[in-house]
Amino acid sequence: MHDVINPATEKVVATVPSTDEEGTDAAIARAHEAWPAWRALAPGDRANLLRAFSDKVRDHVEELALLEVANSGHTIGNARWEANNVANVLAYYAGAPERLFGRQIPVAGGLDVTFKEPVGVVGVIVPWNFPMPIAGWGFAPALAAGCTVVLKPAELTPLTAIRLGELALEAGIPEHVFTVIPGKGSVVGQRFVENRLVRKVVFTGSTAVGERIMAGAAPQMKRVTLELGGKSANVIFADADLEKAAATAPYGVFDNAGQDCCARSRILVQRSAFDRFMELFETAVKGVVVGDPSLEATEMGPLISRTQFDSVATYVPDDAPVAFRGTCPQGPGFWFPPTVLAPVSSTAAAFQEEIFGPIVTVTPFDDEADAIRLANDSEYGLSGSIWTRDVGKAIRVSRGIDAGNLSVNSHSSVRYWTPFGGFKRSGLGRELGPDALDAFTETKNVFISTED
Ligand code: NAP
Ligand code: MG
Repeated sequence: MHDVINPATEKVVATVPSTDEEGTDAAIARAHEAWPAWRALAPGDRANLLRAFSDKVRDHVEELALLEVANSGHTIGNARWEANNVANVLAYYAGAPERLFGRQIPVAGGLDVTFKEPVGVVGVIVPWNFPMPIAGWGFAPALAAGCTVVLKPAELTPLTAIRLGELALEAGIPEHVFTVIPGKGSVVGQRFVENRLVRKVVFTGSTAVGERIMAGAAPQMKRVTLELGGKSANVIFADADLEKAAATAPYGVFDNAGQDCCARSRILVQRSAFDRFMELFETAVKGVVVGDPSLEATEMGPLISRTQFDSVATYVPDDAPVAFRGTCPQGPGFWFPPTVLAPVSSTAAAFQEEIFGPIVTVTPFDDEADAIRLANDSEYGLSGSIWTRDVGKAIRVSRGIDAGNLSVNSHSSVRYWTPFGGFKRSGLGRELGPDALDAFTETKNVFISTED
């Protein structure tokens, strides 16, 4: 058993069983047994079941959101968005079963067609930072493709995933087609990698564990999708709308208390605009409302755990170049104030390492080439933002930055109908968007002779 803690109060909100290896293997075996019937279901019937699941989640958005506030300290506004995201992703991929097209390719002497065959049992391993959306991005397209799913939530944040598993059954998804298995990564997650009945692992989390998953999957040629860390740049040119760039920059990094793989945690500002930007940015950072996540006006909640707090705090030693900080509550809860370090050189640990907390570095640059060089001076390549009024420059810099998800004059990076994923050590493969089904299917080519 494992106690689930509310990070805003440090109180126990629930106690959840920790599944052992035998329990995990048994659930995987049942998912494997459920697979033939699920894949054989008529496409329209599978689509209808996914639509029913989506509707069921939509009917429970408020309940799921409140559960996430209590388990994860997410602000109520964010938590509602997250629960709705699950419903939206299910509705989007409910359109997929009847559209899982192959091709007909011209050949001599016969007919050549391709099929998209489901890979089999898919193991989804979810981190604690976005328990609901990251679960949905894995299970919705996998189910649509005709795979069955076993899902391991993070030990710290299992409550919404467990509820989603119940809602799937209530919506009519057959037993063992989608199973949520709470427990430890080193036990349940490890079995997903080792057990031969799991044909694909979707992992979101740290690059260190992602490396181990990829290595562990290699002997079986097990398919993997890896969504790992990030250290994304927010590149602000002097010709940008500086007021808007400064007003939005805090939310590009401090959302979810900075525990976001897409956090724009390195702000790069053109030298000629540096002082003006910092002046505007200070006002914006001091205006971020940090506090009780269940209140509508709150913009940032606590960190997820004491461990995460201690890890984040190491990036602000006594001699850190703190330019200014926001505020946060005192007393129980893992509260950390929005913190701005400036100027920070590209060799500093705070510039290179994923902090996963509300800390941002600000670094000046000289020109376009310098901006691209600094943005790419990272082992990661997940997201990034570019602020400029010059369209040509925006496009050149977007093409120059090695990252999977860029936004110009905005910080948006995740829409369920566009692809999401990383370059370099930020991961492998893409989730969401029209092509996500490819991650859960194998292409099979069949030639049929027309000879007499
Ligand atoms: P993590 O260890 O990578 O955990 C992510 C998920 O993987 C959890 O469900 C975890 O289970 C599981 N896991 C852990 N070890 C495993 C193993 N050997 N085999 C299979 N699954 C395993 O991440 P974390 O420790 O929670 O966070 C550490 C750092 O990772 C953060 O500070 C941040 O830098 C980064 N991170 C990135 C993202 C992202 O979205 N890219 C998300 C979370 C964390 P448990 O519940 O047992 O831990
Ligand atoms: Mg870990």
